[in-house]
Amino acid sequence: MMDDQKEWLQKLPGVDRMLEDPSIHHLMDHYPRTMVIDKIREYLEALRQMILAGDIPFQPFEYETILDGFLTHTELSLEPSLKRAINGTGIVLHTGLGRAPFPKSAQDSLFDAVANYCVLQIDPHTGKRGDRYIHVESLLKKITGAEAAMVVNNNAAATLLILNTLAGGKEVIVSRGELVEIGGSFRVPDVMKRSGAKLVEIGTTNRTHLRDYRDAITPETGLILRVHQSNYRIVGFSKIVPLEGLVSLAHEARLPIVDDLGSGALVDLSRWGLPKEPTVQESIRAGSDVVCFSGDKLLGGPQCGVIVGKKEYIDRIKKNQLTRALRSCKMTFAVLEATLRLYLDEETLCQHHPVLKMLTDPVKEIKKRCYSLKRRLKDSIGDHGEMAVVEDRSEVGSGSLAAETLPTWSLVIQIQGLSAEELAKRLRLSNPPVFGRVKDDGYRLDCRTIPRDEFGFIVDAMKRLLLSSHAEEMPEKSKNVAENIIREVREIDESPDESKQTNAG
Ligand SMILES: *Cc1c(COP(=O)(O)O)cnc(C)c1O
Repeated sequence: MMDDQKEWLQKLPGVDRMLEDPSIHHLMDHYPRTMVIDKIREYLEALRQMILAGDIPFQPFEYETILDGFLTHTELSLEPSLKRAINGTGIVLHTGLGRAPFPKSAQDSLFDAVANYCVLQIDPHTGKRGDRYIHVESLLKKITGAEAAMVVNNNAAATLLILNTLAGGKEVIVSRGELVEIGGSFRVPDVMKRSGAKLVEIGTTNRTHLRDYRDAITPETGLILRVHQSNYRIVGFSKIVPLEGLVSLAHEARLPIVDDLGSGALVDLSRWGLPKEPTVQESIRAGSDVVCFSGDKLLGGPQCGVIVGKKEYIDRIKKNQLTRALRSCKMTFAVLEATLRLYLDEETLCQHHPVLKMLTDPVKEIKKRCYSLKRRLKDSIGDHGEMAVVEDRSEVGSGSLAAETLPTWSLVIQIQGLSAEELAKRLRLSNPPVFGRVKDDGYRLDCRTIPRDEFGFIVDAMKRLLLSSHAEEMPEKSKNVAENIIREVREIDESPDESKQTNAG
């Protein structure tokens, strides 16, 4: 070992010394003590490894600069793991990014409900235990026209519960064209098996007739299930039986008909020139006995599965023991109630509902935003790179309007010396993380999913990124080296899958 190395190693402070520092005490007011200690250890170890490799982390290598390096770069990794992110992917309902962003009113209700006690399941009139569904049931009835409603953890849970209650031990008739898989973890045949119902497949992948359903009905039949194809479309020579036909057939045979609508639109999107998605109201009007859908797809609310339909069936489902295992928490009810209220006024709905606002945003507005973002970034990028505003296509995501994309505008950004992939990675690791799209080897930010009030985050991220990549080119080691060490330490903790930008439903 060289003398310099020995000297540097000796200068490395112990964990105890750092713990005595007032600025570290200050950190411990905000973050758990053990977490701070772990971070100090991690940091000192990274410095030690660097010295052993023959590098000096800072110049001058003194206690003050070591402490400074820790404070500047560690606060980020002490922050909560679940934090907000900037969605520049153009995928409006991105499962990896938490699907629907909440309306402002829902954020307020959420805070109020979570921060305090709330009347989740108590009747203020009697003081007795009540029903947690009342907070949303009348809204759901009013909006969808159904007789009764309830809510569970997600739509997968809703499907499981419905099948288990109404067809456990019995047969369920489903068209082969509807045996879909959603996002790899929800497959209709598997959920069916778990529910205790027996799957009876009918028809062919592309064509199913009403007579196929009729021929499959036996005394063992529990119900007829229709599943919205969600994330794929069969085009060409294909036929599905209209819901009305299925309803008459089921009711003649005294069987319930269940409609798994998946994305569950509560308004007709074709009003805004978007592709038609079947609405919950249409399904109820056509005579479905039970309809289920996700709360965090087109509805634009929290993760949950909404079940609406005839009271006799909903009452039976509410009584199922499984319901207790699948029930939603107070946060869900707070956000769902506030989101549903927006649907009572269709005129102002799109203004206050982020998902619908993003879906119905006029293309020329998106283009304007794209040019504004370009102007905002111009100063920080300077001659380190180039930008261009280009026409692009956004996706709805989460299996909603699967075969369709929406016209949009994106900002293509190129930074000298960084590949598109590398740029994407650096921006993902900024705070808050910025997610974009790499297409045709260019890095893109789709402005459909970036509101103006988030531009500042992107500008800051770009400034920091350029500072640190500029520093890397310099021969002498600087403070930014520590930033890289810490980033590397953090990356080791992440599995490669997590850093990918996928939209597995
Ligand atoms: C998305 C979807 C589901 C699963 O819903 P989650 O709320 O994600 O559990 C089930 N069925 C259909 C038809 C869907 O589109």
